[in-house]
Amino acid sequence: MPDNNKKTIIFSDFDGSFSEKDIGHRIFRYFSNGEILPLVEQWKRGEISSRECLRREAAMIHPTYDEIYEFLLDFRLADGAVEFYRTIKSLGIPFYIVSDGTDIYIDYILRKYDLGEIKYFCNIGKIENRTLSLDFIYDNDGCQRCGCCKGARINDLVGSSRSEWEIIFIGDGLSDICAVPHADIIYARGDLLEYCREHAINAKEYNDFNDILTDLKKSGHITG
Ligand SMILES: [Mg+2]
Repeated sequence: MPDNNKKTIIFSDFDGSFSEKDIGHRIFRYFSNGEILPLVEQWKRGEISSRECLRREAAMIHPTYDEIYEFLLDFRLADGAVEFYRTIKSLGIPFYIVSDGTDIYIDYILRKYDLGEIKYFCNIGKIENRTLSLDFIYDNDGCQRCGCCKGARINDLVGSSRSEWEIIFIGDGLSDICAVPHADIIYARGDLLEYCREHAINAKEYNDFNDILTDLKKSGHITG
């Protein structure tokens, strides 16, 4: 049951969560002909930070914007994501995307679905002469792991009024783990679900946003 003294706020990861697939990873994999894969393994083992991983990945690809946009034609948001967003918006529930990905594709995909109004926090990419540079514009409260730390973003937004909020977080991967201690309710799949199970953290398993909408209706967080 929701805590009626608190307001609900929802944060979602983008890649593999709000979007059906991990688009950022697939861009790097495709445009590097798979050469980035050992780097990703190093990142998963915690040997390099995501900033280092992303910088090195960026140096391995040489696309134009148009080539990326063409590649993006194959990608879509997760099932139920649009209806989920429209529903919580109609109820006045704040919703933010927090991502360790890049604005180039997040912005493009959201606009494709006419969801350009959704506020998102991520790293900033720029392509000039087939060179992709990444700007890590957010301060991460000392976190050495992330490019754009999701825990720090949640803290920035609601930290000063934490007790007023019931925080819901939705994610699917290891770049989500800094958000976990900040969330009251976690919807998880993939590596994030595995991480939560390994660490005995309460998380609700989901496949797509239809599941989350159904569950939030059942729990009374969403009415109607
Ligand atoms: Mg993800």
